[in-house]
Amino acid sequence: MLEVKDLRVLLQTRRGPAEAVRGLSFELARGETLGLIGESGCGKSLTALALMGLLPENAQVSGHIRFQGQDLLALSDRQRSTLRGNRMAMVFQEPMMALNPLHRIGAQVAEPLRLHRGWSAARAQAEAQRLLERVGLPDARRRAQAYPHELSGGQRQRVSIAMALACEPDLLIADEPTTALDLTIQGQILDLLAELVEERGMGLILISHDLGVIAENVRQMLVMYGGSVVERGPTEAVFARLGHPYTQGLFAARPRLGMARGARLQTIAGSVPELADLPSGCPFSARCRLATPECWRTRPPALLMAQAGHEVSCLHLEEALRGL
Ligand code: SF4
Repeated sequence: MLEVKDLRVLLQTRRGPAEAVRGLSFELARGETLGLIGESGCGKSLTALALMGLLPENAQVSGHIRFQGQDLLALSDRQRSTLRGNRMAMVFQEPMMALNPLHRIGAQVAEPLRLHRGWSAARAQAEAQRLLERVGLPDARRRAQAYPHELSGGQRQRVSIAMALACEPDLLIADEPTTALDLTIQGQILDLLAELVEERGMGLILISHDLGVIAENVRQMLVMYGGSVVERGPTEAVFARLGHPYTQGLFAARPRLGMARGARLQTIAGSVPELADLPSGCPFSARCRLATPECWRTRPPALLMAQAGHEVSCLHLEEALRGL
């Protein structure tokens, strides 16, 4: 259904042009789930915006994005807008990116149905209420008349998810969709997405910095750093044998049940570098405990681990695996 090949996004920054996504390739079939994981600034959200055709104007995108046989990068803005909110939809981390503060939420959820399916106002409004109930918004009939500012952050996120699901998209890109929600609602929303994948064969790209969310909700995963994929594979295989020092660092830094009170979480040394400062070799070399001068110069190839499809881009993979 979706084929991405050598996707690159070049941004104009204060310090000159910087490649924010560097040759990303993957495929997603109907009913499949893919997770993108990494820290803020690693290129996950820009990848999502590139897929949706929502990059800022100063961004240059190249490569290939084929969705249901169409070359998305060859389509006009108007042609892409007929797909957005219809065959492909996105849930943003910040729900106000999708909601209009001046319109009632019921009308906003109903809008894609009127626009893309030509439904009457009454029919679209009734469906909007059903969708609001399905995403767990209490008292949906009354709340459909509310404006976004009258809802809590978690309720607004549920509205934006209802809006994204209105036209039953074939592909949903969810960028940190549950970060603002409490754990119970987070579970409900993730269960709902899993149901839609199962029932309707919807493809799901789930973006998260949370390893637990990725582990439980997607079958394939890509670990991104500095705009590049540094590790990829079936989620089970990656978690069974973390290969890349960055993935190992993310795993070690996660909070765990049963940690002693006051115990400090491990962190990955340093911080995500500015895009313009990324080295020509391994993007992680400035923070990696195993980095050698060669790592700064040489771009690591993708090496296959024992399990089918599990790949790691590291010049010193054996040492990385021994260090676990
Ligand atoms: Fe670390 Fe070098 Fe491997 Fe990059 S290539 S992850 S710097 S050891």
